[in-house]
Amino acid sequence: MIENFIELKNVSKKFRDKNEDIIVLDDISIKLPTNKLVALTGPSGSGKSTLIHLLALLDTPQQGEYSLLTSGNLFSYNEKQKSDYRKKNLSIVFQNFNLISDLTALENVMLPNLYLGIKKIDALNSAKSLLTQVGLENRYNHRPGELSGGEQQRVAIARSLINKPKLILADEPTGSLDTKNAENIIDILKSVIDEKTLIIFATHNKSLVNKSDLELTISNGNVIFN
Ligand code: ADP
Ligand code: MG
Repeated sequence: MIENFIELKNVSKKFRDKNEDIIVLDDISIKLPTNKLVALTGPSGSGKSTLIHLLALLDTPQQGEYSLLTSGNLFSYNEKQKSDYRKKNLSIVFQNFNLISDLTALENVMLPNLYLGIKKIDALNSAKSLLTQVGLENRYNHRPGELSGGEQQRVAIARSLINKPKLILADEPTGSLDTKNAENIIDILKSVIDEKTLIIFATHNKSLVNKSDLELTISNGNVIFN
């Protein structure tokens, strides 16, 4: 286990809405180790997506520092450095799947590997193996429109795993799924956690929180462990 895998120091994020500032994260500092499944909870509008976007380097705060291992302050990286870092070290699963509709399940899963310059044949084999792991070995050549919501989400999970990211972020990945499919997704995520991996997922679902190792709750701009 890596003790201080993630370190956020004095992070503040606000949005300007018309004339007033909405303070979503108010000077938060947290440390998180690897080898955990972390449920990120809090009421709607509390800042779960905001925190996930910050951790995914898709947004920058007004103040604060973020390090993953010995990366230095990731918030000070330029866009190119962030993009490179993101490709190699982390992945994000969105609630609405964000699959590319013209590509088959296999092609969607292969894509992050191809962006890293991995050979097509190797990407293909990894994608097949991941789709099999999520129970979609009979759906390789289906396009997203030909898959159910649960199946699309499993493709999105497979895609998020192909580059073996150290940090996997998921924003309400089971939001549109029934309980059985939702628990299945969480079980798949749990199965890839190891000494070098951390998974953080936003959820409203108590039974999924119960399956997690830690619960991190955002409330009134603060973040607390439950
Ligand atoms: P959650 O994911 O917990 O529902 P969000 O992180 O999406 O909450 O949003 C937190 C707060 O920040 C909300 O009040 C939301 O309206 C506001 N917010 C989020 N993104 C923006 C934005 N781009 N511009 C203005 N306000 C935003
Ligand atoms: Mg959200």
